[in-house]
Formats: sequence, structure tokens, C-alpha cells
Amino acid sequence: MLVHSLVGDKNRERCQGDLLAALGKKDTFGYPSWPLPNAKDLSANEFWRGVNSYIPTLWVWCGTAQIEGESYDFNIFYDGRGTLAGGGYAVLSPRGWKSEKPAIYVRWTACDHKWRSKTVGNCLTRYTCERCGSAHEVDSSG
Ligand SMILES: [Zn+2]
Repeated sequence: MLVHSLVGDKNRERCQGDLLAALGKKDTFGYPSWPLPNAKDLSANEFWRGVNSYIPTLWVWCGTAQIEGESYDFNIFYDGRGTLAGGGYAVLSPRGWKSEKPAIYVRWTACDHKWRSKTVGNCLTRYTCERCGSAHEVDSSG
């Protein structure tokens, strides 16, 4: 994997550690296998809306993936925050210039999160995943 940090070097190590844990890998050698865990198909619009809402922390080039005899460039955009704890987005684009296949867009997370919400303050809700314990708060005041 070729990992580019989009968050500055200060947070790179932590984000990369989170990414490797989400992919079940020990280091950046080799490539993650396709499909990614709990991958859910997105339209191109849904993909870009998601990526533009919260800039991902890492952009990861994952080599090529073979799907139904077609070769795809495989890129992960790791987010790791909020509902995308332990996950993010991925796009696979066909390598052949003459390929008629469309690109494949997904969002994925290592855990198939099941969120439980609890009001913890004025306009403040805490979401905790019943399966992995990941938690984040959403402030709706502003
Ligand atoms: Zn979870």
C-alpha cells in the first residue's frame, strides 16, 4: 500500500495504525483484499458528497484488484471518524482505457456498526456502537 497523509504528519502515525487495524494488517506491505469489510455500494454522487463532507485522513493506493476478469485501480480514502470509525470510502476504476465498465464506489467499516444514541447534554448526543464499543458525540446546536 502507498499511504498518503491528508491530515499532516502529526496525526499520520495514529491514523495509519487505525487503518491497519481496520484492515486486519500488521504493516503497509502488500495490499488489502477486495471486497473490503462491510462494503456498501454508493453512487458516484454519494461517494463525492461523503468525501467532501469530511476530508478523509488518508489516501491509500492499494494496487489493482481483479473483479470478474476486469482489472481495477484500487484506492481507499480512510476516514476513521464518527460513523466511519474503522473505515471510510473506496473507489475502483477500470484500468483499461477502452473499458466500458463504470467505476465502483463503496463505503466500508471493519465493524458493521450498530449505533445506540443517548442524550448527554443540551443538544449533545453520544452514539455508541453495541458491537465494537466505538463512540462519538454529535453537537446539534450549531
Ligand atoms: Zn462498531
